[in-house]
Amino acid sequence: MSEVEARPTNFIRQIIESDLAEGKYKTIQTRFPPEPNGYLHIGHAKSICLNFGIAQDYRGKCNLRFDDTNPVKEDVEYVESIKYDVQWLGFHWDGNVRYSSDYFDQLYHYAIELIEKGLAYVDELSVEEIREYRGTLTQAGKNSPYRDRSVDENLSLFNKMKNGEFEEGKACLRAKIDMASPFIVMRDPVLYRIKYASHHQTGDKWCIYPMYDFTHCISDAIENITHSLCTLEFQDNRRLYDWVLDNITISCRPHQYEFSRLNLEYAITSKRKLNLLVTEKIVDGWDDPRMPTVSGMRRRGYTPAAIRDFCQRIGVTKQENTVEMSTLEYCVREDLNQNAPRAMVVIDPVRVIIENFSANLDEVLTMPNHPNRPELGQRQVAFTRELFIDRADFREEANKNYKRLVLGKEVRLRNAYVIRADRVEKDEKGEITTIYCSYDPATLNKNPEDGRKVKGVIHWVSAKFALPAEIRLYDRLFNTPNPGSADDFLATINPQSLVIKQGFVEPSLRESKPESAYQFEREGYFCLDSKYATEDKLVFNRTVGLRDSYAE
Ligand code: ATP
Ligand code: MG
Repeated sequence: MSEVEARPTNFIRQIIESDLAEGKYKTIQTRFPPEPNGYLHIGHAKSICLNFGIAQDYRGKCNLRFDDTNPVKEDVEYVESIKYDVQWLGFHWDGNVRYSSDYFDQLYHYAIELIEKGLAYVDELSVEEIREYRGTLTQAGKNSPYRDRSVDENLSLFNKMKNGEFEEGKACLRAKIDMASPFIVMRDPVLYRIKYASHHQTGDKWCIYPMYDFTHCISDAIENITHSLCTLEFQDNRRLYDWVLDNITISCRPHQYEFSRLNLEYAITSKRKLNLLVTEKIVDGWDDPRMPTVSGMRRRGYTPAAIRDFCQRIGVTKQENTVEMSTLEYCVREDLNQNAPRAMVVIDPVRVIIENFSANLDEVLTMPNHPNRPELGQRQVAFTRELFIDRADFREEANKNYKRLVLGKEVRLRNAYVIRADRVEKDEKGEITTIYCSYDPATLNKNPEDGRKVKGVIHWVSAKFALPAEIRLYDRLFNTPNPGSADDFLATINPQSLVIKQGFVEPSLRESKPESAYQFEREGYFCLDSKYATEDKLVFNRTVGLRDSYAE
């Protein structure tokens, strides 16, 4: 239990603890209920960590249930990606994956029970008429002329709906509750509609599909869910959740609790809008490293541990708020700083020639993979006469604040020697092509003996052995912190959100694996791209910079 105590509590955990203390439940059962109509995003990760985290901490169970009641928008591609993402985040669902569609027969029988009790009726108003009759927040709705049909007539019409004897939109099943309810969801909500669409799980067995509100509570009850956790926009729907369960014969009685959605600055967390970015080819798929999807974050090099840490830090409340991107990046950096091996990579290369170093010599230097974790091992890197350093690490003239290489001055090459820049060569445009230097052989990983102070340290790669690599630098996808509220969010895309550079990486990076991050010294955290890297071409994604780039 100590692990439970170590976690920050929240109002949902408090409810669970008191339910357990009162003996209301012996074991806790939660569920994560995605609709398979898109890939999971960071908001879903919050819900996953909450539902699976509670099950873990209170020795309960959590189901993965696909809420698959709208075959038109759903696809097995999404089912597969969601299963993969949940496991990648480090969670295990109880038993088999479940589908609301597993319960279509039972749901159908519960609908009949409601009809038999006079609590549901087949309506033949059109979709527009139903909307008109519903009323508004300030005006009560009015009853459908079909509302008072007999039970027998309703049973027969519902059967006809099921048998495909109505056209789409010509009939639906509605709950008979109260057209004057202050809660619009209670104004005779639709329970079933007709859709002539093949379903990814049930094929063509059904042409009537149950609505979310009818399906969700019953699926929860069938699965013995104790605490059904969802986001705040379903607060009013709780009345309908309770109404359905109170009016059918079912033994388990789950309860719904709502928490606020995660909104993330500079990101979109609506599947519909994320889908638009994909279909409009603004990004190169759901797993584009700029996407706030679980698959995008994975491809970018974010770790499951960092995402879980983030979800824990932001907490669970009922207050709507927007979390800063820097919070997420902080968690990623914290994890990678501890765990990512170091490597040297030059993103914007300029050639350096060490004139007093033999062209025939490749001096093998041994470097630690991590500055304070010797258990991560060492690697060997060749030091040669020709090197690359970053263009930004050299100036012909500079003041004292510039702690890198300056003409006539010295700098340390990371894990190697102190060098001095003696002269430069430029092309006809005046751009430096080569920096001629000399090295001090007595300074391998130690200070000059005569007490000269060399403050700056820069990174380098051997021009002879380094491998060319494409480096993809990502920035925020949107120019505005709250793109979701823009009239046209596509107009707020940051044109600089991807910048591609051609650099050089140390040869050890040939062994790197997709999604497994390195710290490229002085540059940031990077990982091999799972989509574009091939046997012959190294492509790295910048996971996150070394410092907070969102701080204004
Ligand atoms: P979207 O608006 O992106 O379509 P959704 O809520 O319709 O999201 P579902 O697949 O129904 O997506 O979501 C599965 C679960 O994840 C639900 O319980 C939902 O409340 C939760 N969830 C979705 N988005 C967020 C979010 N931004 N923050 C927290 N939980 C979320
Ligand atoms: Mg939903």
